[in-house]
Amino acid sequence: MTILDGKQTAAQWRADITHRVHELAPLYGGRTPKLAAVIVGDDPASVTYVNLKQKACAECGIRSTVKRLPADSTQQQVREAVRRLNANSDIDGIIVQQPLPPHIDSKDLLLHISPKKDVDGFTPDNIGRMALGLDCMRAATPAGIVELLRRNGITTRGKRVAVIGRSNIVGRPMASMLLEKSEMGDATVTVCNSSTPDLKEILAGCEIIISAAGCPGLVQADMVAEGAVVVDVGTTRVADPSRRSGYRLAGDVDFDAVAPKCSYITPVPGGVGPMTIASLLHNTLTAFVRRRRRTL
Ligand code: NAD
Repeated sequence: MTILDGKQTAAQWRADITHRVHELAPLYGGRTPKLAAVIVGDDPASVTYVNLKQKACAECGIRSTVKRLPADSTQQQVREAVRRLNANSDIDGIIVQQPLPPHIDSKDLLLHISPKKDVDGFTPDNIGRMALGLDCMRAATPAGIVELLRRNGITTRGKRVAVIGRSNIVGRPMASMLLEKSEMGDATVTVCNSSTPDLKEILAGCEIIISAAGCPGLVQADMVAEGAVVVDVGTTRVADPSRRSGYRLAGDVDFDAVAPKCSYITPVPGGVGPMTIASLLHNTLTAFVRRRRRTL
């Protein structure tokens, strides 16, 4: 069994991005890409994630800024903040950090982020273009998973793949990518959800399992075929009084029981998470280059 080390793979990817940022800067008058994150309220997880993203940007030579809005901001005020970032020619990428306060409609906001700056790859334009196989900003987490597999020599062509979860940010775009006509697509994909009655049978028949349910312990050893590749996207905070923070992050997969059966498996944390951040940096660089080529 080999650990699919997302930290190490993301570090290689980020080194490539850093190299490209520094190579391009002199061609664009010393300018480097810039990412803007919008945070509404002070959810501690959101603040932590945005801090991590800003740190990763800085390490790659990508500039970043955070637009903080109070928790009681109206939908109109958040939309207006996004609209200003769309119009700001110094900004190449925009992310609206989730979770948002319950009164904010995140789907509505997606209609207002410029698709050219949508580095999460969540807007209808980018999701639709990806489904049609057109050039687009690819959804960050699934694109990070594809890169994790590719950089570790794992292809999906001709494989049976189970995706657990059908969310718009992970499960659906993941399935779309796996269906593309390429070496890192061309899979036979089964997308499972919370109403799937025969999860165990489906998983046991697959060479690759990608789990994005957010249910710790969902994937057990008797559900996984010998030699399977298991990618655990799940990241759930579970209480752990032995930690200073009082919690730990748990994946969907019962790692200790499942790992001995796998050819490759991702840990949580240190698997998909770092690849998602690298993917975001990659998309920010792509947005920067495309906007410059269109001469803004
Ligand atoms: P979501 O809640 O929007 O979707 C979860 C999906 O899982 C749903 O489609 C649901 O039907 C399915 N599901 C739930 N229980 C199931 C079960 N018992 N059997 C089969 N399917 C089941 O979640 P999301 O936003 O896609 O995130 C999923 C998980 O991935 C969360 O833990 C989240 O924190 C994590 N996540 C991690 C990253 C990362 O970069 N590491 C990025 C995004 C999401």
